[in-house]
Amino acid sequence: MQKLIITVALTGNVPTKAMNKNLPVTAEEIAEDVRCCADAGASLFHVHARDNNQKPTLDVEVYRQNVIRIEAMAPDVIVQLSTGARAGKDWDARVKPVQLLPESASFTTGSNNLPGIVYENSPQFIEHLAGVFRETGVKPEIEVFEPGMINNAVFLQKKGLLKPPLHFNFVLGAPGSMPASIKNLLFLSESIPAGSTWTVSGIGKVEIPMAAAAILMGGHVRVGLEDNLYMPDGSLASNPMLVGKVAAIAREMGRAVAAPDEAREILSLEPS
Ligand code: ZN
Repeated sequence: MQKLIITVALTGNVPTKAMNKNLPVTAEEIAEDVRCCADAGASLFHVHARDNNQKPTLDVEVYRQNVIRIEAMAPDVIVQLSTGARAGKDWDARVKPVQLLPESASFTTGSNNLPGIVYENSPQFIEHLAGVFRETGVKPEIEVFEPGMINNAVFLQKKGLLKPPLHFNFVLGAPGSMPASIKNLLFLSESIPAGSTWTVSGIGKVEIPMAAAAILMGGHVRVGLEDNLYMPDGSLASNPMLVGKVAAIAREMGRAVAAPDEAREILSLEPS
């Protein structure tokens, strides 16, 4: 089995400090959390930007500040910027984080319902964003909320817009998307092209159970306060605590955890 890549979705667009005081929001808090999570075994960081009022933003300057701070605190980690639509629907704004040339950025290859909104990714927008990934050489993480999104990614690969090997994140257990079950995880992991890599994000209380399943199955794991605010015992989580829990489960099962450069090799990224 490959070494385990632990990704942390640090902040997201939805959680607030009122929901969990450990949520990192400012560039300083995010960078400090990255450093602590890296010490606990995480190598890849999925970053959303928040403005001065803690509201989600696609402001490229806020993203830039986040990246600068992270590079100063934890220079070896892999940074993945979000292109999600909760912070705005403007095409140019959603593409800009990719143009900052992080090593990776998220790419949802389809639309679905999320609590309170339609998460809209039209065929035209998907193709546009895929073109930006191709031009910039930034590695997309394909966010899969239902199986059609795998088909869309394969279609883009066939058109020459996405370069294999593809990397997928299966988002399971969000209201409006696929339920979190071993059966669904197995089905999705067997539905991606040979040579692809995959990780799983269990939303809410299934985060750690889905992580344990992925550790067993040879996949990779995403945890973090974007997806889940609590530890399995119901206490408030922090990002480093969630990473520590996953690293401990991996250790117990004899699965080694990947350092950032090992994660780069697994994901076919250039060495740092
Ligand atoms: Zn996200």
